Amino acid sequence: MDTLVEECIQYCHKHMSAIVATPCNMNCINSNLAAHISDLFSHNEADDVMDRKDKFKSKLFQKKIECLFNPDYKNQDSPGNASTLYRCGLCLKLLTKDTERKISCIPGKINVNPRGDITYTHSRQKSWEVHDLSLPLVCRQKSWEV
Ligand SMILES: [Zn+2]
Repeated sequence: MDTLVEECIQYCHKHMSAIVATPCNMNCINSNLAAHISDLFSHNEADDVMDRKDKFKSKLFQKKIECLFNPDYKNQDSPGNASTLYRCGLCLKLLTKDTERKISCIPGKINVNPRGDITYTHSRQKSWEVHDLSLPLVCRQKSWEV
C-alpha cells in the first residue's frame, strides 16, 4: 500500500498542472498527504504549477511555508530557514540568522569582522511578532517573488 501511495505522490508531482486542469476534486487530499506531495516540489516547481481554479496550489504553498518555519528544516532549494525571522527596528527589513550579516542596515551600522569582511548589525524590533507578517498575502499572490 505504501508503495502505491508513493507512486501516486510521484505522479502528482510530475503531472500536477494536468491533474488540477481536470474536473477533479482535490479536497480528499488530507494535510499529511499534501505535506508529502509538497516535499517533492522545489519552490520554483510549486510556482510553475498552473492551477487556474486554485485547487491545490495554495495548499502546496501553505505546506512550503509551514516547512520554512520548522526549525529543523533544511533544503538547498529553499530561501533559508525562517524560524529565526525577525524585523530590524532601524531599517525595518525582515531578517533571519542566515541573512542578518549579509543584508545592509541603515548607514552607520556597518562593522568589519576580524577577517576583514563587512558585516551588518541589526537591532531586533521587540514589538514585532512573526504573526504580524501577513502570510495570506504570500498565498494570495501565489508566488515567492516579491
Ligand atoms: Zn537593520
